[in-house]
Amino acid sequence: MERFDSLLEAAEFAAARCKSWSFATADERYDEQGLLVLAETSDSENPIDEDSFYVVSPSGAIGICENGEDIFWLFLSDAAPNEDLPLTYQAVPQIKFCPECDSPVYPGARYCAKCGIALRNT
Ligand SMILES: [Zn+2]
Repeated sequence: MERFDSLLEAAEFAAARCKSWSFATADERYDEQGLLVLAETSDSENPIDEDSFYVVSPSGAIGICENGEDIFWLFLSDAAPNEDLPLTYQAVPQIKFCPECDSPVYPGARYCAKCGIALRNT
């Protein structure tokens, strides 16, 4: 599950996965354009706290996570209305190790911080 710092980013990502959503707590539906407009408005008028973030499920459902754990699902994907959505967010540890010196390297790092060799990102 991917995480995003703004609803617009989450909406754009979700739009690559499905084309319509229903609002989880009301009988409203959104198409791609409607969702993006709503997301932009929401980000500018009601930005989330620094430690909150949005998540997007594999089918394109969008949720908000306000304490780093519990997910409140906002938009359900019409592509998979019965998707089994998790209620908590668990960060997947993605620690890799340098092939040269075996020290841990951050995901996406291009060089090992310890020995300096170039890392291939797979
Ligand atoms: Zn190294």
